[in-house]
Amino acid sequence: MTNLEKLKLLKLLYQHKSMGFEYFSDLKSIYHKRDLALPGSMDELKTIVTACHMCSLSKTRKNVVFGDGNINADLMFVGEGPGANEDESGHVFVGRAGELLSKIIENVFNLRRDDVYIANIVKCRPPLNRVPNMDEVSACKDFILQQIRIVNPKVLVALGSTAFHHLTGDYETKISRVRGEVLKFGGIDLVPTFHPSFLLRNPSSKKEVFQDMLTVKRLLAL
Ligand code: SF4
Repeated sequence: MTNLEKLKLLKLLYQHKSMGFEYFSDLKSIYHKRDLALPGSMDELKTIVTACHMCSLSKTRKNVVFGDGNINADLMFVGEGPGANEDESGHVFVGRAGELLSKIIENVFNLRRDDVYIANIVKCRPPLNRVPNMDEVSACKDFILQQIRIVNPKVLVALGSTAFHHLTGDYETKISRVRGEVLKFGGIDLVPTFHPSFLLRNPSSKKEVFQDMLTVKRLLAL
């Protein structure tokens, strides 16, 4: 059974549980392999994701952090996962890392944060901000892929190694080696760079990120 099929089945089970059902002897009676594509509407996708319990992160999260911004944006950022502030608020990239990302968007691209789309590889906070594990990413990855399909940006920026590794499937190359290069994600230009949280700990790397953002700006013809 694919992750998407599991998600649909779980959703059906939760719906039936809310109606008072506790046990099914024959799952086939409630589960049909139809309509297995995730919705093409961001609002409908958000409704599905905010009710998701596909991995153990759902047990410790306060809020699902789906993603925010312009769904018709030319520029999309993908980070790793929610931290404490995001988990509390339900919004992506708030707190100090979010402020830094907003400054980059405003100062380099002369855009407002609302002009771009921002989301994470996983939508629920890993405890103690640890890196999400493979099971968690596998359960969640269809959601970010569908968000990218819906936004269909000209340029995708992978913020940090987790986003870079899981978007490209390249688990060997270090972000420090590949940052600033223009890769391909289907027909979309993908530029990996350091995560804003890393920049807060290593301010001297800001100049490298600035160079990477100038590459992105050139790709966007801004
Ligand atoms: S991290 Fe993703 S797969 Fe896991 S519960 Fe949250 S939304 Fe679902």
